[in-house]
Amino acid sequence: MPFCIYNAPIIEIGKKDVEKMLLNEYGIDALFNWNEEKLIELIRQNGERKIGDLLLDQHIFAGIGNILRNEILFRARINPERKVNELNENEMKAIIQHTKELSHAFLKAKLDGRGIKNMLMVYNRKFCPICKTKLKFYRQEPNKRKTFYCENCQK
Ligand SMILES: [Zn+2]
Repeated sequence: MPFCIYNAPIIEIGKKDVEKMLLNEYGIDALFNWNEEKLIELIRQNGERKIGDLLLDQHIFAGIGNILRNEILFRARINPERKVNELNENEMKAIIQHTKELSHAFLKAKLDGRGIKNMLMVYNRKFCPICKTKLKFYRQEPNKRKTFYCENCQK
């Protein structure tokens, strides 16, 4: 059923409905009770894949959408083309930490009736908010999704 938060008073919208909407719109699953060690293990099992591609894998990240994927990698300062087995422990933890924080922040913005647009640092942006360099934009293989990253800040 189509559901639009902007057409209804927030008070009538249950948290469950908003979560469902977030999942449909942004691919955000309520990753709220996840097991971090299990997740790292799953990621490590896919060492040959690019991290930017793996983040879209529904079997592992249970529904991170494309917007979130771009924002997570920017905040973790990781180039989407890096292979999983090239990531060190701290980089892995940074990805997981930002995934958690951003999922919550997106959800909260929606619950508060705000959009997420102001929270986006690279998605559909032209310049890096940190170093002001022009962002790279392309469609990543093999997923062909819109990919934005800063060559300067993301290694
Ligand atoms: Zn930058």
